[in-house]
Amino acid sequence: MVQQRSVEPKAKDKNKHAVSARRDVVTGSIVLVAILMFVGTGSTVMSDSIKSMAGYGGGSENLLVSAFLLNIALILFGWRRYRDLSSEITERTAAEERAHSLAATDPLTGFLNRRTLTERTSEMISLAQRKNKSIAFLMLDLDNFKNVNDVHGHSAGDVVLKEVAQRIANVVPPNNLLARLGGDEFACAFIFDPDQPEMVDRISDDLIDSIAAPIVENSNHLVVTTSIGMSRFDLEDEGVDVLMRRADIAMYSAKKQGRNRFCWFDTSMEQELQTRNTLESGMRTGIPKSEFVPYFEQQVDLATGKLTGFEMLARWESPTQGLVSPEVFIPIAEETGMIGELSLSILRQAFEEAKNWDQSLTVSVNISPVQLLDPWLAQKIVKLLVETGYPPNRLEIEITESSLFENLSLAQSIVGSLKNQGIRIALDDFGTGYSSLAHLRALPFDRIKIDRSFVSSILENSESAAIVKAITGLGESLGMPITAEGIEDRDIETELRNIGCAKGQGWYYGRPLSMEQTRKILAERNLLPAQRVPEPRPTEPSIDDEQTGAPVFLERKVG
Ligand code: C2E
Ligand code: MG
Ligand code: MG
Repeated sequence: MVQQRSVEPKAKDKNKHAVSARRDVVTGSIVLVAILMFVGTGSTVMSDSIKSMAGYGGGSENLLVSAFLLNIALILFGWRRYRDLSSEITERTAAEERAHSLAATDPLTGFLNRRTLTERTSEMISLAQRKNKSIAFLMLDLDNFKNVNDVHGHSAGDVVLKEVAQRIANVVPPNNLLARLGGDEFACAFIFDPDQPEMVDRISDDLIDSIAAPIVENSNHLVVTTSIGMSRFDLEDEGVDVLMRRADIAMYSAKKQGRNRFCWFDTSMEQELQTRNTLESGMRTGIPKSEFVPYFEQQVDLATGKLTGFEMLARWESPTQGLVSPEVFIPIAEETGMIGELSLSILRQAFEEAKNWDQSLTVSVNISPVQLLDPWLAQKIVKLLVETGYPPNRLEIEITESSLFENLSLAQSIVGSLKNQGIRIALDDFGTGYSSLAHLRALPFDRIKIDRSFVSSILENSESAAIVKAITGLGESLGMPITAEGIEDRDIETELRNIGCAKGQGWYYGRPLSMEQTRKILAERNLLPAQRVPEPRPTEPSIDDEQTGAPVFLERKVG
């Protein structure tokens, strides 16, 4: 158990004094009465007894002797009572202390809990103000603790939390506050000299190194890392809530910058958070208003130049922000749990639209790793297909390797159900993540998509060219055709055709198009059966490029 090195509460002292005063009154009065009676009767009885023993007569009256004996009995009683009372009070005090400590601390680590940390930090702030010192407040969050719990079980998780607490206590200077705020989140605060902020950096560095050292549990070497957000209190600053909030914001920034690092709070982070919150609330109101819509990017058969279908890419036509990229809103939707609803709403619109296209055209859709943690995902997609009347064999679902990390067996079962319906599965952005052969075999992929970072630099970067060739060769031997993303000009297209890539997409063929724009190019190419052209929806927002800052679409005829 980690020793708590923090300021003793004043309330506890007061309680102790009250208890000992009570003890003094009870036992004191018993002993006082006994002593008075002893003095009153004892001297007469004793001198009479001595006289009688020496043969001078004397002899106490029976009443006096009885009183004397009663008095001795009273003193014995008083003494016993004193002892009982003392042990009772000791037990009660210990129980009260235990209850107090349980209410103030985290039972697993012995660290303070959140409520007590807030109280003690306020006390520390007053102390620092009196001494003209600063306070460093550190918020620590373990990066991969969930893995430990999932893979090694909760008792291993507890061992890790206790060991991490011990390591924090060893690194942070004395007279600190150490707290566990819940789960894998810890906090500590300590006073430092405002002229030496580098000392705080050093402590954070030591914390990161110390926590990252392997923890041996049941002959397993468990490794967890931590992200630390740091804020400081100086004389003119606001209170404890601001200090904690800033450390929290800085901690999220440390996570975003790649974890296993520390980050001081700065005001731009608050601004960023505010922007993010604005986006989040805009998204909450925008989803039911159908502000999130599908755009379509052409996919082309590289050998024939024929249009084979489209990749559906989400866009937010926001009335206040203009056209917003999925790279901005998808991560927010994933973090906030909106991704499921958002994705299904866009898929529904895409299926409604694409069912009117020529039957040879396919649609590829991106599914987030977070969605693959939903055991009902396959059923939800199949239900959408049935409701919209879009044929499953014209649908391809793109997933990235990171989808396979969290819960591979669930991903396998979802993909199995989708494939049973005739839906095809593509591995997206191959080459950027782990690009492991094991992952290629983990799911029955129908296609590999090479990430655009290799494709668009294939002509000027020999490494990129080697990677594209290697992946194409791999796909050939595994029977998985390749789609190359990010074809930006004719030369890249020629090179990819020579290498043997089956399909391609990229700005050379055109930027992603809105539903109306897609309809227009399909009509021009006789790929939109005339009788099924849907009327434009009257409620659909019409945002032109100038207004929204949307990219200028380069339309190229293929063929
Ligand atoms: P992705 O699936 O790899 O999509 C390809 C991205 O590359 C698209 O960006 C596309 O506009 C861009 N791109 C295509 N050709 C070129 C090119 O020649 N040059 C360059 N520089 N870029 C090209 P976008 O639309 O911004 O989408 C970004 C990512 O957002 C997508 O990457 C995908 O991972 C994600 N995303 C898009 N829509 C959805 C969605 O509905 N659900 C989920 N979960 N993710 C989506
Ligand atoms: Mg994709
Ligand atoms: Mg991709």
